[in-house]
Amino acid sequence: MIRVAVAGYAGRMGSAVVEAVTAADDMEVVCGIDPFGKEAAFPTYEAIEQAIEGESFDVLVDFTQPSVVAGNVEKALSAGIDCVVGTTGMSNDTLDALASKAAGHACLFYAPNFTTGAVLMMQFAKAAAPFFPEAEVLEFHHCNKKDAPSGTAVRTAQIIASARGFESEAPGSETEIDGCKGARGALVDGVPVHSVRSMGYVASQEVVFGSMGQTLTIRHDSWDRASYMPGVLLGIRSVGDRTGLVVGLEEFMD
Ligand code: NAD
Repeated sequence: MIRVAVAGYAGRMGSAVVEAVTAADDMEVVCGIDPFGKEAAFPTYEAIEQAIEGESFDVLVDFTQPSVVAGNVEKALSAGIDCVVGTTGMSNDTLDALASKAAGHACLFYAPNFTTGAVLMMQFAKAAAPFFPEAEVLEFHHCNKKDAPSGTAVRTAQIIASARGFESEAPGSETEIDGCKGARGALVDGVPVHSVRSMGYVASQEVVFGSMGQTLTIRHDSWDRASYMPGVLLGIRSVGDRTGLVVGLEEFMD
C-alpha cells in the first residue's frame, strides 16, 4: 500500500486527488495538509512540518499555491519523502534547487499538466515546431487561477522554442499601441503566450502555428478535474522508482 499525504486537500484539485487515491486499491490517504482545511475521514494538519512529525507517508502530493509549494516540497524532500507536484508557477531553477536538496533516493516529480491529452498536445507541438516560422500559445482557465501564464503554456512555449531553434519574425510588443501593453502576449522563450481568465473554463489551450498561406491549430480542453486523476495516480505509483528531478507526465507514460 502506498501511503499518500495530500497538501491542499481542501482545494479543487486536492479534493479530487483524495477521491481518486481513496478509490484506488494500492494506495491510501494517510493525512491531508491545508491551513484552510475541512472535515475529513483522515488526520489533517495545517502545515507540512506537523504532518511529517505526526504521520509516516511515502508520497506527498501537492496541489496548493505557487507561493507555498516550494516550502512544502523542500521539507518533504529533506525528510526523504517522494513528491508528486501539480502546483504550477515554479521556475526550472527552483525545481533544480529543490531536487538537489532531496535526501536519500527521494524524487521530485513535477507535471505542469497531468492529462494525457495535454501531454500529447505538447508532443504534437514539438513535432510541428520546426516546420512553421510562427507559433503562439493561447490558454484559457477559470478566473480563480492564481498564476499566469499557466504551467502548461510555459512548458509548451519552451518545447516549441527548443524544437524549432530559430527566432520568430512576427511583430512583437513594439507594435502595441499606447495604453494596450500586453496585446501581443508575454514572451516565453520567444514564443508569445496569451492568458484568458473566465468563468466557464476549467483548462484549455490552443497552439497556433503559421507559415505561408496556412495555419495549424492544436487544441486541448479539460472539462472536468477527473481528467487529471489517472496521471496523478500514475505519478504516485511511479515516483518511488526514480531519484532526483523528473518533469512531465510523458516520462512515465512511455
Ligand atoms: P485551490 O485554490 O482550489 O486549492 C489550493 C488549496 O491549497 C487550498 O485549499 C488552500 O487552502 C491550500 N493551501 C494553501 N496554502 C497551503 C499550505 N501551505 N499547505 C497546504 N495547503 C495549502 O487551487 P486548485 O485549483 O486546486 O489548484 C492548485 C494548484 O494546482 C494551482 O497551482 C493550479 O495551477 C495547479 N493545477 C495543476 C494542474 C496540473 O495538471 N499540473 C491541474 C490543475 C491545477
